[in-house]
Amino acid sequence: MKAGFLFPLLIFFSHISLLPGQADQKEPVAKDMLTPVYYGAGTEDAFRLEVDRFLEACRKVRFHHPLADDEGNIPDYVIHDWGKFGAGKPPWRSMQHHPASDFKVGGGQTEVPLYAAYDGRVTTFRDAPKYRHYLALTKIITDEDGRELGKLVTIYGHIDLDLNEAAGLLLDGKTVKQGELVSRHLYSETRGGPHLHFEIRYYRPGEQGSEEFYGMRMGEESRRLTEPGAGPWKLGYWDPEIGYGFGHPENHGVK
Ligand SMILES: [Zn+2]
Repeated sequence: MKAGFLFPLLIFFSHISLLPGQADQKEPVAKDMLTPVYYGAGTEDAFRLEVDRFLEACRKVRFHHPLADDEGNIPDYVIHDWGKFGAGKPPWRSMQHHPASDFKVGGGQTEVPLYAAYDGRVTTFRDAPKYRHYLALTKIITDEDGRELGKLVTIYGHIDLDLNEAAGLLLDGKTVKQGELVSRHLYSETRGGPHLHFEIRYYRPGEQGSEEFYGMRMGEESRRLTEPGAGPWKLGYWDPEIGYGFGHPENHGVK
């Protein structure tokens, strides 16, 4: 009797999964935020094909959730509307898109262990204008012949490197395995309350993987940001010479 009841439901749900746009497995779940050069290129343009090839290879990297411990436990968290990928950013929510997801754990806890999304090399940064302290996890993406297609760089922003180092966590320049502990502390004074700013960047071959290529075009450090946002991403300015753009965390299985 139970099976007879479930059968029509299964048919119903199997049809839902065939909605337009979901049938083709190559299509991303959510829109990535890419350089205006990409949206300005024709569909057969060499640069566009290069980006598509790289993104396809990147999406094969399934991420370990940054909040999941070695038993897969994830603490309660929220992503507020203004902390979602693509949200408009202050001062008037019309200056730039938010190229990341902001995870606020509990009521804004600061003791939040964070884990490596994939095997990679850690670099730590202090006094960064946007994120104060952050760590970057870098993985070189290659084709079948071992040729570099680009770099996958994930930024864990608003962490507290001083407290991490006091706790014996010194990872700058070291390689880590997927799921390994990379941080224990979020910075307590972050505006809007302590949270993890989780940002996925895509770089071109040969780039260092720490260059800024998108922002509000304010101040001396942003003088290379000359191209206005394009495609579905109209806010902010880009450096047309650097980077492919930002990945939507959901395209790597991180929600
Ligand atoms: Zn953020």
